[in-house]
Amino acid sequence: MNTLLQQRGIMVVVTRAVLVVPSTTYRADGFFRAAASMGIEVAIASDADLAIGAMRTAGSRAKSGALGVVKVCLEDPEGAADVIERFARSTPLDAVVGVDERAGMVANAAAMRLGLPHNPPGAIAASRDKIAMRAAAARGGINQPELRVVTTVDDAREAARSIGLPCVVKPASLSGSRGVIRVDEERDLPGTLERVRKVLAAAGEDPCSPVLLEKFVPGAEVAVEGILDGGRLLPIAVFDKPDPLDGPYFEETLYVTPSRHEPAVLRRVLDAAEAAALALGLERGPVHAELRIDRGQPFFIELAARSIGGYCSRSVVAEGSWTLEELILSNSLGWELPSLPEDSAQLVIGASGVMMIPIARSGVLQSVEGLVSARSVPMVTEVTIAVHSGQPVVALPEGDRYLGFIFARGPSAAEVEGAIRDAYAELDIRIVDVPGPIVE
Ligand code: ADP
Ligand code: CA
Repeated sequence: MNTLLQQRGIMVVVTRAVLVVPSTTYRADGFFRAAASMGIEVAIASDADLAIGAMRTAGSRAKSGALGVVKVCLEDPEGAADVIERFARSTPLDAVVGVDERAGMVANAAAMRLGLPHNPPGAIAASRDKIAMRAAAARGGINQPELRVVTTVDDAREAARSIGLPCVVKPASLSGSRGVIRVDEERDLPGTLERVRKVLAAAGEDPCSPVLLEKFVPGAEVAVEGILDGGRLLPIAVFDKPDPLDGPYFEETLYVTPSRHEPAVLRRVLDAAEAAALALGLERGPVHAELRIDRGQPFFIELAARSIGGYCSRSVVAEGSWTLEELILSNSLGWELPSLPEDSAQLVIGASGVMMIPIARSGVLQSVEGLVSARSVPMVTEVTIAVHSGQPVVALPEGDRYLGFIFARGPSAAEVEGAIRDAYAELDIRIVDVPGPIVE
């Protein structure tokens, strides 16, 4: 069709993007669909042949006109950027987009080489290292918990005395609350530090690396899902986390939007999230920020250069509006993003929520009963169990996954929250002991 038009002397503007897709992701499909709906041709950069085969199928299924596939090593962003740069010599590109945070580092390095819009080098890396992130936020004057970087038990004691208890000990390099532990008594510090070190080792990180000791900030927690456009934060949704997150471990269970905090408080939260992103040097792309609100004042907890994790992106999609992936693609192409609906502080209209079903204790998942009843609770749109029966499950602070997800959509945040809780109450989750010792 395009060739025909070109033969007739009609100029056809084709938009092309490379999607950087890790073999382990389940998020590629949403991006293929978005590209297809926006008329964008996509090529795929991935780290596995197998994935590439699957992507080809997914690409053609989504009619996104996959342009080709290139193999890259995602552990080596500069090497991967080389490959994409070479590819761009024969196939001019308008954008390079990572479908998750790690792929985003590769996409950013490639976009920089190609003279496409990108974040300053180092900004995404800073957001992945909590010590660098805290230092950048401090330089930017962001309100955040008082903290120290500690290595030894003596450091930790001294830090706790100076900051005051309760405090939170956490690794600099992990995510999903892995290894994040509240400490109330000084005598618990050595054991907690030891436990964090074991979690680091199990995650393949240096167990001796410095960790953070932060003042525990009480109060409600919110997550801000947004997209940076030239340094301005466009709020996609602010989620309340209505389950108290008081520790000692910090399982995030419920996310519900819109937030029920006062508009003035929400304004401060959004301003703080935007300022934190800028302090890290981020100017564009999706961000997921977490903040605590203590007596109306936001305290910055963390910010990641990615959209809301995994399955949760589904709760962002509002009927008939932009999908998260469409927003991300448009942003990376420098296209105009939608403006906020009238009288709304966020793009997402209507109430929705998700529960990341917690793993109550470590063991082996024996069975999950009650799925049919849970799914039939009004307003519940989906209940997914992500672990097979017979598989081991590990609770926090050592664990690194959820048991599954419950999604709901409804007229108000309170009703959505109620529906999710009702659905959860229908589930009978049986976890039995692991035969033999649990390896932590
Ligand atoms: P991760 O990257 O592992 O998610 P976070 O820094 O986001 O690490 O910590 C996980 C959770 O632990 C947060 O969502 C919050 O509930 C809790 N938390 C972390 N730091 C603090 C703090 N200083 N005060 C209170 N709660 C905290
Ligand atoms: Ca977090």
